[in-house]
Amino acid sequence: MIQLENISKIYRRNGKETQALKNVSLHVNKGDIFGVIGFSGAGKSTLVRMVNFLESPTSGSVLIDGKDLNSFSPKELRQAQKDIGMIFQHFNLLNSKTIYHNVALPLVLAKEKKQVIKDRVMELLRFVGLEDKALNYPNELSGGQKQRIGIARALATNPSILLCDEATSALDPQTTDSILKLLQRINQEYNITIMIITHEMSIIQKICNRVAVMENGEIIEEGDVLDVFGNP
Ligand code: ADP
Ligand code: ADP
Repeated sequence: MIQLENISKIYRRNGKETQALKNVSLHVNKGDIFGVIGFSGAGKSTLVRMVNFLESPTSGSVLIDGKDLNSFSPKELRQAQKDIGMIFQHFNLLNSKTIYHNVALPLVLAKEKKQVIKDRVMELLRFVGLEDKALNYPNELSGGQKQRIGIARALATNPSILLCDEATSALDPQTTDSILKLLQRINQEYNITIMIITHEMSIIQKICNRVAVMENGEIIEEGDVLDVFGNP
C-alpha cells in the first residue's frame, strides 16, 4: 500500500548539504505492523515525512496503492493525507483545549456535523478507555493517558495507516507495553496498517511483523522480524 522506490533526500541549508536518505526502497503491505529502527540521525524522521507527504524526495518516487504521488490532484492529496494518522513522542496535544476538543479537532477541520463529531469523539474515548476525561485538559493526564488521547485523535478521520514516531519513547516500560497492546488492537480490530519508528529493538520484537534497519540514510536490512532479529 505504501511503496518507496529509490528515494534520496538531500537537505540544503546555509550552503551545506546533508544526504538524509540514499536510494531507499520500502514496501509496506496492508495489515503490517512495520518497524523502522535506527540510531539518531539515521534518517527515520525524514522517511516518515516522505510517507505523510510533509516533504518531497530529491529523487525517487512514493506510491500509494500503486499510484505515484506526483500524479495526485490536490483533492486526491488531501484525501490521501486524511488516510494517514500520526502519533508523536511528545503527544502534540493542545494544552489550552479539553481532551474532547483535542480529539474533535481533525473532525472540526474536516467540517463534520456537530452530532457526528460528538458521537465519534465519545466512541474514540471509550475505545482508548478515557471516556471520563473528556472535560479534562492534557496537563491533567499522565503520559500514557496523553498518548491514548493522541491515538484517539489520530484515528478520528478513520485512517487506514497509523504512523508512530517514537510514540513510546517518553513513557515508562509498563505504560509502553499498554500502548503497544492498544496499537495491536488497532491493527487487528480495525485492520489499520501501522508503521513504527523507534530506536528500541524491544518494541520491534514485541509487536512488529516486518522491519527495516536504517543506518546513515540507508536501509541496511529489511524483512520479517524473526528473520532479521530472531526470537525475543
Ligand atoms: P532520525 O530521525 O533517524 O534521527 P533524521 O531524518 O532526523 O534522522 O536526520 C537524518 C539526517 O538529516 C541527519 O544528518 C539530520 O541532521 C539531517 N536533517 C534532518 N532534517 C533536516 C532538515 N530539515 N534540514 C537539514 N538537515 C536535516
Ligand atoms: P498511566 O497508566 O496512563 O501511565 P499513571 O499510572 O501514570 O497512568 O497515572 C495514574 C493516575 O494518576 C491517572 O489516573 C492520572 O489521572 C493521574 N495522574 C498522573 N499524572 C497526573 C498529573 N500530572 N496530574 C494529575 N493527575 C495525574
